[in-house]
Amino acid sequence: MSFSKVSVHGGHSGSFCGHAVDSLGDVVAEYVAQGFEWVCLTEHMAPLRQSMMPPEEAAAGMNVAEIQARFERYFEEARRLQALYRNDIDILVGFETEGYAGYEADVAALIARHEPDMLVGSVHHLHNLLFDDKLADYQRAVTLSGGIEALYCDYFDVQLELIERFQPAVVGHFDLIRIHDPDYRQRWEVAAVRDRALRNLTRIGELGLILDLNVRALAKGADEPYLSEPLMAFAIETGIAMTTGDDSHGVDSIGKGLDAGVAILEARGGSSDWVRPARGRHVK
Ligand SMILES: [Zn+2]
Ligand SMILES: [Zn+2]
Repeated sequence: MSFSKVSVHGGHSGSFCGHAVDSLGDVVAEYVAQGFEWVCLTEHMAPLRQSMMPPEEAAAGMNVAEIQARFERYFEEARRLQALYRNDIDILVGFETEGYAGYEADVAALIARHEPDMLVGSVHHLHNLLFDDKLADYQRAVTLSGGIEALYCDYFDVQLELIERFQPAVVGHFDLIRIHDPDYRQRWEVAAVRDRALRNLTRIGELGLILDLNVRALAKGADEPYLSEPLMAFAIETGIAMTTGDDSHGVDSIGKGLDAGVAILEARGGSSDWVRPARGRHVK
């Protein structure tokens, strides 16, 4: 198997994220050492509201001013590393969005302030609950949506809103909503769920956005990446761009799952002729 190593999503680091490890400098040095051709550094956005402080940062007593200052330092350090390694690796500096209530004002303010090269558009919250972390919060979100199928529908509706509003160059872990659902394969058979997923994929294709072939799930023991089988098949059939993202959260997770993810993609007829986000594109 031969493919060029790239990542549309990752570079979370202990320097700027409470649930990641290692310094951003060590993370970038590891990308260089592994021979990555290009990578997007996409740290989680810093919320502009205390209620949406991430769990580790909230536990540490961080306030909005402090997390904004840390986000500012993230951009400074990422830009420094982008320049330092310009002859070794092509780095795009961006960030990963949220989709909580009111996210649009926060994302717009952060774009205006930091002028990222690109965005990864991700939804990790429903009903303002972080559903991809603790199982109990996922289950609460299921109850608030009115059932597991309704949860999937709500997720894809929020995701479409985010896609239409910001046209992020990369759409992060498209079907993350399956994370705590062992029976997720059944959900793609439900018309209301499937129709929304395919609707969003179709729109991503029309807008020319890139799907994050997110291999972190594989590195954590799942048997397929995001996107899961029928959704990936649809993307391949309809020619929607899909590019690997290792979603790294420290040196150890860099490149993890890449070989397995690409093997699955190619076995299903997908191309490893990667599409790279254009700098500055889709950023409003
Ligand atoms: Zn993270
Ligand atoms: Zn994410």
